[in-house]
Amino acid sequence: MKKLSVVVSVYNEELALPMFYRSVKPVLEGLSWDYELLFVNDGSIDGSLEVLRQLLLLDSKVKLVGFSRNFGHEAAMIAGIDYAAGDAIVCMDADLQHPPECLPKIVEKLEQGYGVINMVRTRNQSAGIIKNITSLAFYQLINTLSDVKFEANASDFFVVSRQAAEVLKRNYRERVRFLRGYVQNIGFRKTTISYEAHNRVAGESKYSIRKLFAFSMNTIMCFSNLPLKLGIYAGAFAALMGMAVMAYTLCTRQGAPSGYTTIVILNCFMFAVLFLIVGIIGEYIAVLFSELKDRPIYIVEETGNLGGEKER
Ligand code: UDP
Ligand code: MG
Repeated sequence: MKKLSVVVSVYNEELALPMFYRSVKPVLEGLSWDYELLFVNDGSIDGSLEVLRQLLLLDSKVKLVGFSRNFGHEAAMIAGIDYAAGDAIVCMDADLQHPPECLPKIVEKLEQGYGVINMVRTRNQSAGIIKNITSLAFYQLINTLSDVKFEANASDFFVVSRQAAEVLKRNYRERVRFLRGYVQNIGFRKTTISYEAHNRVAGESKYSIRKLFAFSMNTIMCFSNLPLKLGIYAGAFAALMGMAVMAYTLCTRQGAPSGYTTIVILNCFMFAVLFLIVGIIGEYIAVLFSELKDRPIYIVEETGNLGGEKER
């Protein structure tokens, strides 16, 4: 019998967790596959860990990987993929925004031999208008800048087969990362299932606009080198403009143009472009530096019900 691993990242979800467990458990029981429910506690500072420990005692299908501190959602998902033992892995959120009712459909698709299933949201009730617009703008930008193409409504709700998971585990260990992007670009037989994102059942979203912005910047750097080439374009543009002005001055023999304002504005503008480009290069160097240091993506402090040598 095949086994489905459901990986759930948890950060301060003490209120949502019992509800999540209650709704996902019957669905999992009804599947034709065996299953495990692997919670990754991402250094929660509320009672989430206690709730999870209770679940571990109650239910041997529930497993736990607990981080030593908060490492972020991306790290939690990759840890889930590292520790999951199933023939396919589903990553989902603990706040019930990703409906467990999709699981039977997922198993059906897996049995048809699909290796990657992207869960595409049709409607996002909870995200405000600003989040929806920025999200759309972000995908427009990244799709313009990058060679690889991204599904605009993809979410952190996705399914990978064991084979695809092994690729993610072995070859996608960057520190600056965007798992959702990798999942869409590793190939394998792909399909999508659409779902309607509900409001989160309890607690609040951990992604502020500021966090999302930082995340978007990282993603652009992860998938595109185009910003690095801005310097070349800006330089070429400035050189052309310089030549045009030079030609004009020489031809009309006006002598030096009498523009203090022009000079100041031009100076400011050129310096602005210059510093911007230096800043962009700096960002890439920061990414390089963090990859070079090769610090761990996550640190596990405790595990539960994993069995064997994986246990800590
Ligand atoms: N999460 C996490 N680590 C973090 C932030 C969030 O593991 O640092 C988890 C969180 O518990 C939830 C999922 O990631 O299960 C998605 O987070 P959230 O619902 O806050 O994001 P949103 O759905 O609002 O984009
Ligand atoms: Mg959510």
